[in-house]
Amino acid sequence: MARYTGPSCRLCRREGVKLFLKGERCFGPKCAIERRNLPPGQPGTGRPPRQRFSNYAQQLREKQKLRRTYGVMERQFRRYFEMAERQSGRTGEIVLQMLEMRLDNVFFRMGFATSRKQARQLVSHGHVEVNGRRAKSPSQILAVGDSVGVRENSRNLSVVQTALEINAQRPIQSWVEVNPGEMSGRVTCLPGPQSSDVAIQEQLIVEYYSR
Ligand code: SF4
Repeated sequence: MARYTGPSCRLCRREGVKLFLKGERCFGPKCAIERRNLPPGQPGTGRPPRQRFSNYAQQLREKQKLRRTYGVMERQFRRYFEMAERQSGRTGEIVLQMLEMRLDNVFFRMGFATSRKQARQLVSHGHVEVNGRRAKSPSQILAVGDSVGVRENSRNLSVVQTALEINAQRPIQSWVEVNPGEMSGRVTCLPGPQSSDVAIQEQLIVEYYSR
C-alpha cells in the first residue's frame, strides 16, 4: 500500500492551511503554520507571499488539500471520484462522504487515535475490529450501523490510552456515537458536507477531474 512518507508539515505549508496531520502538535504553538506560514522552499521574508493562481492551479490546490487531509494517494482518490460520478447526487459531496466513512477516518473521529495516520497504522497492525471482526484495510468504507472498536488485546496500548485522554476534551462528530469505557463506537448516520476539518470547495475538485 503506497503512502506518503515525507514531512507532514510540509504538506500544510504547501497548501497554506492547517490540515491537522500530526495530532496534538497541530493545536499547539509548535505547528509550522503558526510559526512560519510559507510554502516549502521559500526563504522567509517576514511577510506572506503574494500569489495569483490560475483556475487550473486553484482546482489542483483544492484537490491536493482534500487528498492530503485524508492521506489518500492519487489513484485511490481518482477512483473515489469515478465511483461518486456513478451515483446520484452531488459528486463532490459524495466523495467527501466516502472519505469520512473510511475506517481510518472513523476510528480517528471516534477519538481512538490522535491523527488519521496513527489510525491507519493501528488498523494495519490489527488492533481494530469492525462489527466484531478484525479489520484489515484502513481504506474500508463503512456503512451506517457499523460498529468499530479497539480489539480486546489492544486496549492497553499506550497510544490508544493517550488518544482517548487527549480527545476527551474535544467534541465528537454528531454522526458517530462512542463508548469510551468499552473502546467502541458506532456510525449512526451519514456525515454531512460540513464534517471535514478543512474548508473545501469541492466544486473546484469536480472541475479538476472534468477537464
Ligand atoms: Fe504540522 Fe499539524 Fe501544523 Fe499541519 S497542522 S503544520 S501537520 S503541526
